[in-house]
Amino acid sequence: MTDSHDKNCVFCKIIDGLIPSERLYEDDKMIIIRDIQPKAKIHLLMIPKEHYKDITSLDQRTAEDLGLCLLKLKELSPVLGIDGGFRLIINRGERAGQTVFHLHIHILAGGGLIGF
Ligand code: 5GP
Ligand code: ZN
Repeated sequence: MTDSHDKNCVFCKIIDGLIPSERLYEDDKMIIIRDIQPKAKIHLLMIPKEHYKDITSLDQRTAEDLGLCLLKLKELSPVLGIDGGFRLIINRGERAGQTVFHLHIHILAGGGLIGF
Protein backbone atom coordinates (compact mmCIF):
# COMPACT_ATOMS: atom_id res chain seq x y z
CA MET A 1 0.00 0.00 0.00
CA THR A 2 1.30 3.46 -0.85
CA ASP A 3 -0.25 6.71 0.20
CA SER A 4 0.94 8.32 -3.12
CA HIS A 5 1.28 12.09 -3.03
CA ASP A 6 -0.35 14.28 -0.40
CA LYS A 7 -0.91 17.83 -1.60
CA ASN A 8 -0.59 19.18 1.94
CA CYS A 9 2.69 17.41 2.64
CA VAL A 10 5.79 19.62 2.79
CA PHE A 11 8.09 16.89 1.43
CA CYS A 12 5.69 16.07 -1.45
CA LYS A 13 5.78 19.80 -2.25
CA ILE A 14 9.59 19.76 -2.22
CA ILE A 15 9.63 16.67 -4.47
CA ASP A 16 7.17 18.37 -6.85
CA GLY A 17 9.31 21.54 -6.87
CA LEU A 18 6.60 23.64 -5.24
CA ILE A 19 8.91 24.44 -2.30
CA PRO A 20 12.54 25.21 -3.19
CA SER A 21 15.33 23.05 -1.81
CA GLU A 22 18.98 22.37 -2.53
CA ARG A 23 18.89 18.93 -4.19
CA LEU A 24 22.18 17.16 -3.69
CA TYR A 25 20.99 13.98 -5.37
CA GLU A 26 17.91 12.74 -7.19
CA ASP A 27 16.86 9.54 -8.91
CA ASP A 28 13.53 7.90 -9.70
CA LYS A 29 13.04 6.74 -6.10
CA MET A 30 14.35 9.52 -3.85
CA ILE A 31 15.90 12.91 -3.34
CA ILE A 32 18.59 14.01 -0.91
CA ILE A 33 18.38 17.59 0.35
CA ARG A 34 19.91 19.67 3.14
CA ASP A 35 17.82 19.96 6.29
CA ILE A 36 16.57 23.52 6.73
CA GLN A 37 17.45 23.45 10.45
CA PRO A 38 20.69 21.46 10.64
CA LYS A 39 21.38 19.61 13.89
CA ALA A 40 24.91 18.57 12.88
CA LYS A 41 27.66 20.11 10.74
CA ILE A 42 26.21 18.16 7.83
CA HIS A 43 22.52 17.32 8.10
CA LEU A 44 20.88 15.82 5.03
CA LEU A 45 17.49 14.25 4.44
CA MET A 46 16.97 11.22 2.22
CA ILE A 47 13.34 11.40 1.13
CA PRO A 48 11.62 8.62 -0.85
CA LYS A 49 9.51 10.12 -3.64
CA GLU A 50 6.49 8.05 -2.69
CA HIS A 51 4.54 9.38 0.25
CA TYR A 52 4.72 6.94 3.15
CA LYS A 53 3.55 8.33 6.46
CA ASP A 54 6.37 6.69 8.39
CA ILE A 55 8.60 3.61 8.55
CA THR A 56 5.70 1.42 9.67
CA SER A 57 3.78 2.21 6.45
CA LEU A 58 6.12 0.05 4.36
CA ASP A 59 5.31 -3.36 2.92
CA GLN A 60 7.65 -5.90 1.32
CA ARG A 61 7.99 -4.07 -2.01
CA THR A 62 8.33 -0.60 -0.59
CA ALA A 63 10.78 -1.79 2.06
CA GLU A 64 12.90 -3.18 -0.78
CA ASP A 65 12.72 0.23 -2.49
CA LEU A 66 13.92 1.88 0.71
CA GLY A 67 16.71 -0.68 0.95
CA LEU A 68 17.82 0.24 -2.57
CA CYS A 69 17.91 3.91 -1.52
CA LEU A 70 20.09 3.03 1.47
CA LEU A 71 22.44 0.96 -0.70
CA LYS A 72 23.13 4.11 -2.76
CA LEU A 73 24.87 5.65 0.27
CA LYS A 74 28.02 3.67 -0.49
CA GLU A 75 28.61 5.37 -3.84
CA LEU A 76 27.12 8.70 -2.80
CA SER A 77 29.00 9.21 0.46
CA PRO A 78 32.14 10.74 -1.16
CA VAL A 79 29.97 12.98 -3.34
CA LEU A 80 27.93 14.09 -0.32
CA GLY A 81 31.09 14.67 1.75
CA ILE A 82 30.08 12.13 4.38
CA ASP A 83 32.55 9.34 3.69
CA GLY A 84 34.35 10.13 6.95
CA GLY A 85 31.35 8.67 8.79
CA PHE A 86 27.65 9.34 9.17
CA ARG A 87 24.67 8.51 11.34
CA LEU A 88 21.19 7.64 10.07
CA ILE A 89 18.08 8.45 12.08
CA ILE A 90 14.44 7.70 11.31
CA ASN A 91 11.91 9.24 13.67
CA ARG A 92 8.59 7.42 13.85
CA GLY A 93 5.71 9.18 15.60
CA GLU A 94 5.36 12.49 17.41
CA ARG A 95 6.76 11.10 20.64
CA ALA A 96 9.99 10.23 18.80
CA GLY A 97 10.21 13.74 17.35
CA GLN A 98 8.65 13.13 13.94
CA THR A 99 7.27 16.42 12.66
CA VAL A 100 6.92 15.72 8.93
CA PHE A 101 4.73 12.69 8.27
CA HIS A 102 6.42 11.64 5.04
CA LEU A 103 9.04 8.98 5.67
CA HIS A 104 12.57 10.37 5.58
CA ILE A 105 16.01 9.39 6.79
CA HIS A 106 18.20 11.93 8.55
CA ILE A 107 21.87 11.73 7.57
CA LEU A 108 24.10 13.38 10.16
CA ALA A 109 27.83 13.83 9.55
CA GLY A 110 30.71 16.25 9.68
CA GLY A 111 32.26 15.19 12.97
CA GLY A 112 31.41 15.96 16.56
CA LEU A 113 28.66 13.34 16.80
CA ILE A 114 28.50 11.97 20.32
CA GLY A 115 28.71 8.18 20.41
CA PHE A 116 25.88 6.20 21.95
P1 5GP B 1 11.40 14.88 11.63
O1 5GP B 1 11.36 15.76 12.85
O2 5GP B 1 10.01 14.69 11.06
O3 5GP B 1 12.12 13.58 11.82
O4 5GP B 1 12.25 15.67 10.56
C1 5GP B 1 11.76 16.66 9.75
C2 5GP B 1 12.92 17.50 9.32
O5 5GP B 1 12.54 18.23 8.17
C3 5GP B 1 13.36 18.51 10.37
O6 5GP B 1 14.72 18.28 10.72
C4 5GP B 1 13.15 19.85 9.69
O7 5GP B 1 14.18 20.78 9.98
C5 5GP B 1 13.14 19.49 8.21
N1 5GP B 1 12.31 20.36 7.39
C6 5GP B 1 11.03 20.74 7.62
N2 5GP B 1 10.58 21.54 6.63
C7 5GP B 1 11.59 21.64 5.74
C8 5GP B 1 11.73 22.33 4.49
O8 5GP B 1 10.82 23.02 4.00
N3 5GP B 1 12.92 22.21 3.84
C9 5GP B 1 13.94 21.45 4.33
N4 5GP B 1 15.07 21.39 3.61
N5 5GP B 1 13.85 20.78 5.51
C10 5GP B 1 12.69 20.89 6.20
ZN1 ZN C 1 4.53 13.49 1.25
